[in-house]
Amino acid sequence: MPQISAQKKQGAGSARQLENLARRYGTPLYVYDWNTIAAAWREFDQELTGIPHLICAAVKANANLALLGGLARLGSGFDIVSGGELARVLQAGGVAGRVVFSGVGKTRDEMDAALQAGVLLFNVESAPELALLEARARARRRPAGFGIRVNPNIAAPTHPHIATGLHRHKFGLTASAALALYEQTRASRWLQARGLSFHIGSQILDSKPLAAALVKILPLVHHLRQFAPLEYLDVGGGIGIDYRHGRAVPVRPFLAPLKKHLQASGLTLLLEPGRRLFAAAGLLLTRVLYIKDNARRRFVIVDAGHNDLIRPAFYDAYHRIAPLRPRAGAARRVDIVGPICETADFFARERRLAPVRAGDLLAIYDAGAYGFSLSSNYNARPRAAEVLLENGRARLIRRRETHADLMALEMEL
Ligand SMILES: *Cc1c(COP(=O)(O)O)cnc(C)c1O
Repeated sequence: MPQISAQKKQGAGSARQLENLARRYGTPLYVYDWNTIAAAWREFDQELTGIPHLICAAVKANANLALLGGLARLGSGFDIVSGGELARVLQAGGVAGRVVFSGVGKTRDEMDAALQAGVLLFNVESAPELALLEARARARRRPAGFGIRVNPNIAAPTHPHIATGLHRHKFGLTASAALALYEQTRASRWLQARGLSFHIGSQILDSKPLAAALVKILPLVHHLRQFAPLEYLDVGGGIGIDYRHGRAVPVRPFLAPLKKHLQASGLTLLLEPGRRLFAAAGLLLTRVLYIKDNARRRFVIVDAGHNDLIRPAFYDAYHRIAPLRPRAGAARRVDIVGPICETADFFARERRLAPVRAGDLLAIYDAGAYGFSLSSNYNARPRAAEVLLENGRARLIRRRETHADLMALEMEL
């Protein structure tokens, strides 16, 4: 069973510090380590030395302002999928000229806000979306840089809910449909074909599909460049992490083939990592409320619920879980569950866990991506607080919500 010491290498704080934070800010509590995030960002940046590139952190993985601000100071760009994420990036000091706007359902208001801000690129996913973008660019007298998201029809070995690169998925367009759109917009004053994008899925641990998608798409890129001044090739995100063992997954095997194929192209590589930047840098601290034995099963009931971390319920995702202070005695199989009235409210099933008692703290590891950002107020539960460690110093970066916060937007009859 991995102990806190395993996590300590990543700098997420000693057991004592985490206990103090839990006492001070309560549980459930998200704790992130800034140095781990910065190191992951720099790993991408360094591996791409030698070719023009821009790393656009995927905001949907973790949208906390303090983290976005820190990334902006490193020089990061951002991949956004909504007007809300654009507002967050700008608020955090991000540069609009380093923002790419992805997503299949951008609204007119979201396009207007992004045109106003001056984002680098709209990654467009359909013909009607491109038509609306042209209309809004014309109305606002601001040319829009765009790329079409092409669906390479490549299977990514991952959970079906987070695979996106097949024609049966809603994302992107076929190469021929994309080509037709680029051709149609050649004469437009208000649309500038500046890029092309794809994103084949998330939590991918095999480097081959990404390179395969690139190789499949390069002929289209070369063809397009005969008439469109493409500058950017956006290969999306999707690099996974090792949720089972917490071992670092190097990014080089993913990036080296991209680098090789793009070296001589003069194109700027855009990369949109989310999970690989944030996941291993965060843990969710939760306190054991009760131990309950029912029939032959033991349930460890904790104060975090699937409203706080929904990945196990959503994707059957695995997270390492360990007591901060393992007690002596034999580990046994338990279900670690939350207080919410849903059978899907679990963090682990039939998992070997060292002995725990009510009041003990558990760390749920690798929760820094798609943890807080997917959290909700289900069961009228205030969302958790978030703390950031930097060089061992802790800072509250989002206070715990109150019941009053949750009711503040409603009108009583
Ligand atoms: C979600 C998403 C990403 C980030 O994916 P990760 O698996 O977190 O790296 C990047 N680009 C697009 C278009 C996305 O939808």
